[in-house]
Amino acid sequence: MADHFQLRLVDSSMIAPTVRHLAFERADGQPLAFQPGQFLQVHFHYDDGTATKRSYSVATVGDGSSPVTRIEIAVSYVEGGAATKLLGELRNGGTIDASGPYGRFCLQEADHHPRYLLIATGTGVTPYRAMLPQIEKLLAAGDREVVLLYGARNEGELLYGEEFEAFAKDHPGFTFHGCLSRQPRAVPRPNDRAGHVQAVLTELRPSAERDIAYLCGNPNMVDAAFAALKEFGLPVHQIRREKYISSR
Ligand SMILES: Cc1cc2nc3c(=O)[nH]c(=O)nc-3n(C[C@H](O)[C@H](O)[C@H](O)COP(=O)(O)OP(=O)(O)OC[C@H]3O[C@@H](n4cnc5c(N)ncnc54)[C@H](O)[C@@H]3O)c2cc1C
Repeated sequence: MADHFQLRLVDSSMIAPTVRHLAFERADGQPLAFQPGQFLQVHFHYDDGTATKRSYSVATVGDGSSPVTRIEIAVSYVEGGAATKLLGELRNGGTIDASGPYGRFCLQEADHHPRYLLIATGTGVTPYRAMLPQIEKLLAAGDREVVLLYGARNEGELLYGEEFEAFAKDHPGFTFHGCLSRQPRAVPRPNDRAGHVQAVLTELRPSAERDIAYLCGNPNMVDAAFAALKEFGLPVHQIRREKYISSR
């Protein structure tokens, strides 16, 4: 059930040239219960007084079983964007109105596919960061695999890249492919791939028997990857999607 609350900014940093990571606490001191993969809505007014809202995935690393006090999001800069301005100018101690959590872009216990393909561009990777403890549990039995395909133009835009690399190192069932479309890393890593995430799908050869896929971020990437996965024979119910469209 979605709740309305104020969030107070407690910490922030630029995690890429155009992405701000913001950490909040609820102003009423309450923790937030959420399932990794869900998002919040930020409510505000345009200059003419019209009410509006925008959605942001919760980036806090959580296991879904206990509420969190630190509520993190990553906000990508959009030229002329109203929420971009609000969230870009917010200073520590400043508050915003929010509600949530919303959404069903979550890992589901009923799924028992041998391989999970988690695919993202830009801030669309934040749900997967939030899911890391759940992914750890999923891998513990040793009979499943998780592959993260993360598309960015260059290494500076691979958000939380080192966290995913470290997780991959500690969890042999987890593979992280940074898919760099414009510029390779200065020191390339074995699992880096050149080009868009869709191109790497050919290498992974998804199948209906083996895979369940999650797609999150840029709507063009989500549509292209969805079409590619259907070509590989994945039924629609094995492809979960979260498109980062503006909800104006
Ligand atoms: C479920 C969901 C979860 C989301 N999670 C995140 C998240 O975690 N992090 C995040 O940064 N965003 C996320 N988004 C997108 C976010 O809600 C806003 O749409 C985005 O921040 C732009 O809002 P804005 O008010 O700054 O721009 P707007 O005022 O809405 O748009 C300004 C102008 O930019 C265009 N525009 C809008 N979005 C984009 C874009 N992405 N790229 C290029 N042009 C654009 C608009 O058409 C308009 O012309 C999510 C969206 C959804 C639906």
